[in-house]
Amino acid sequence: MIIVMKKHATKDDIQNVLDRILEMGYNYQISYSEGNTLIVVLDSQPELGKEKFIFMKNVDNVIQINKPYKLTSREFKSDNTVIDVDGIKIGGEEIVVIAGPCSIENEDQLMLSAEIVKNAGIKFLRGGAFKPRTSPYSFQGLGEGGLKLLAKAREKTGLKIVTEVMDSAEVDIVADYADVLQIGARNMQNTKLLQILGKLRKPILLKRSFSATLNEFLLSAEYILNKGNENVILCERGIRTFVEYTRNTLDLNIVPAIKQISHLPIIVDPSHGTGKSEYVIPMSRAAIAAGADGLLVEMHPNPENASSDGEQSLTPQNLTKLVQEIKVIANSIGRKIL
Ligand code: PEP
Ligand code: MN
Repeated sequence: MIIVMKKHATKDDIQNVLDRILEMGYNYQISYSEGNTLIVVLDSQPELGKEKFIFMKNVDNVIQINKPYKLTSREFKSDNTVIDVDGIKIGGEEIVVIAGPCSIENEDQLMLSAEIVKNAGIKFLRGGAFKPRTSPYSFQGLGEGGLKLLAKAREKTGLKIVTEVMDSAEVDIVADYADVLQIGARNMQNTKLLQILGKLRKPILLKRSFSATLNEFLLSAEYILNKGNENVILCERGIRTFVEYTRNTLDLNIVPAIKQISHLPIIVDPSHGTGKSEYVIPMSRAAIAAGADGLLVEMHPNPENASSDGEQSLTPQNLTKLVQEIKVIANSIGRKIL
């Protein structure tokens, strides 16, 4: 159950509601949305009646949600959430593409990548500075040096920057440089990190973990919303299954499923989802046809020489081809490519 207080509710009005919740033996969590205080009643049973709160002073609405996730659900908010990244919208009519190398390797590689991305008509540049590698012997990223290069690329091209934050201690520094903070699959359930990101207002791109169910995925998003940051973009990036011919299995079923039960935007990463560059364009077309709000794709000016994920990185020519092909699909379902 969520109790929505009126905008002009006083501290005392809110305290009265909280006292009643505690008297009834429940706990609560407070969050804020569009100027309203929201009180989420935790562990409430369906029989906890609306009438217990709806007549209290300055209570605007009481919403019953019998799902484990509350703030992320469509019952809580029926309209799609559209996230504004400095004037560029994610989750609206337009489809966004985020492209760039898996890792930032050096200045030349990143500046060239940024030019290629911009020339393909794309508005967002991705690039990992802090890399969550499976092996400790693999390239771990340039760290803050990589963030500085991203800032330089933004200055030169005007592209918005998407980059991963792996550790709670690095949130502030990554937030200083990034327009969108990415949470990788390996950290989807790092709840301390999610809570810290919930205190920011910058958009968070939350990737699904290898083995997360839809409920677990949405509950991770709930950790961020619940601390007050509503700007969460979900990202399907493939899950572990028994198949061995691709790196992961891209679960496109989750796109319409999320659209049905949540108001948050969802984008798809066919690069990690397939692990093979030759499957990235077909699965990008499929993702847009399935209703995704965008794509996150890896592109390298010279994939054979990439420090990470070269085998799944598009060439510059194929990035341009991808944008042209998804335009046709977007138009056919009444959407546009940004
Ligand atoms: C990435 O996008 O570079 C990445 C590491 O992805 P994931 O967390 O999905 O493995
Ligand atoms: Mn990668």
